[in-house]
Amino acid sequence: MFQTRFFSRNGTSVGRELVQGAVTIIGAARSGLAAAKLVVATGGTPFVSDLATAEKLGPSVQRLKDASVNHETGGHSGRVFECGLMVISPGVPSSSPVIAEAFRRGIPVVSELELASWFCPGPVAAITGSNGKTTTTTLIGRMLGDARIRHTVAGNIGTAFSEVVGGMTPEEWAVLEVSSFQLDHCETFRPKVSVLLNITPDHMDRYGNSMERYAASKSRIFQAQESGDTFVFGADDPWTAKVAEQCRCRKLPFGLTRSATDGAWVQDEMMVASIDGVPREIIRADEITIKGRHNLQNAMAAALVGLLCGVSPASLRATLRNFKGVEHRLEFVREIQGVRYYNDSKATNVDSVWYALQAFTAPIVLMLGGRDKGNDYSRLLDLVKQRVKAVVAIGESADKVAEAFAGMAVIKKASSMEEAVSTARFVADAGDVVLLSPACASFDWFQNYEHRGRVFKELVNAL
Ligand code: ADP
Repeated sequence: MFQTRFFSRNGTSVGRELVQGAVTIIGAARSGLAAAKLVVATGGTPFVSDLATAEKLGPSVQRLKDASVNHETGGHSGRVFECGLMVISPGVPSSSPVIAEAFRRGIPVVSELELASWFCPGPVAAITGSNGKTTTTTLIGRMLGDARIRHTVAGNIGTAFSEVVGGMTPEEWAVLEVSSFQLDHCETFRPKVSVLLNITPDHMDRYGNSMERYAASKSRIFQAQESGDTFVFGADDPWTAKVAEQCRCRKLPFGLTRSATDGAWVQDEMMVASIDGVPREIIRADEITIKGRHNLQNAMAAALVGLLCGVSPASLRATLRNFKGVEHRLEFVREIQGVRYYNDSKATNVDSVWYALQAFTAPIVLMLGGRDKGNDYSRLLDLVKQRVKAVVAIGESADKVAEAFAGMAVIKKASSMEEAVSTARFVADAGDVVLLSPACASFDWFQNYEHRGRVFKELVNAL
């Protein structure tokens, strides 16, 4: 369910006024806490409510207590509707009954991102997509940092936008990683530069298995953009290219081949980026440190944003040479007896595994499985046949994985990460790659994907 329209085009000031009254915040974890602090700082009265218990939520509840913010845990009472504005944390599904009831009562419901954007004094660069958000957002932050352009990186990436927005200045760029859940409840959020990397099946469980709905959610990144703003998008991806047709502001496509006068593409192994009809050579593709075709696409998107923020091509080139990527994303761990081990624990959907498999020419021992998200593995079958010598099926979905790839490679099931690593070591020969790229969520065996990646790395480092 999407937001019905509460605000007119210049709704920011309406929003700011609402914040000065009673504001309910759904979700008492990091983003909810940051939103509550922002509401207090702007003169409003927050009430924070969470379905989870105080024990489960841990220290954030203590911090609400310390700050004397009214709150409740373990369920939502009728008090959540005694407000002029409801703010929802990114973890709360749009289908939650509490949101439906707020809609029914005519209460404006906005995401934490929309709330924070009302108080942002400077330009915003916002990055979304199914895969590559963190890598691209981090890379853009690094490009601006290396060029000494004032900026703050926030959003889905760790620090909530509400947490930092109060300290920002008018000349400072907010570089934001944005998820589709946050976009679902945005109306006036207007980035100066928006990026849509790709739209491939992920979180289908939260969008009623509808790619149309998921794509519509992603397209909200540019819905409030106007002339003078720019939309950067992945032209190689059919869903993204289709969605881009609806965008009214300036569009810059990036892709392996050139599709418009301006944008970014690769020509004779050279990444070229063009804005306002001026093409500039940025870097040779093989000089970029992060590997794989997907990372080349991330680098093109980031380079366009860098140019739009005023970074010189020479400075972009230096950053792209130095940037080694982000932990848990095709991260090289160690080489043992000619076998290279990679941690791609963040590959929590099928598409990111497809790209990981593309990135290697050596035979792969693939560790895959976990909490299934309705995965369809058919997209991987050809690549698995060509490049994967063994699949080590892990986690809750090991049986489904074993069945999906039966007959295409050697299949081994493992009942713990420890067993999976020793099995992988046993089947791998010198020259092979052992790749943890699970295509699944981690919550069956681990707290989160970082935990899964760390456990994998510890085991590999102990071999
Ligand atoms: P996100 O923040 O969108 O989840 P990350 O940068 O954390 O993206 O990368 C998540 C996973 O997707 C990693 O396994 C990574 O190797 C892979 N990946 C990164 N960029 C892309 C891309 N452009 N297309 C497909 N997969 C990608």
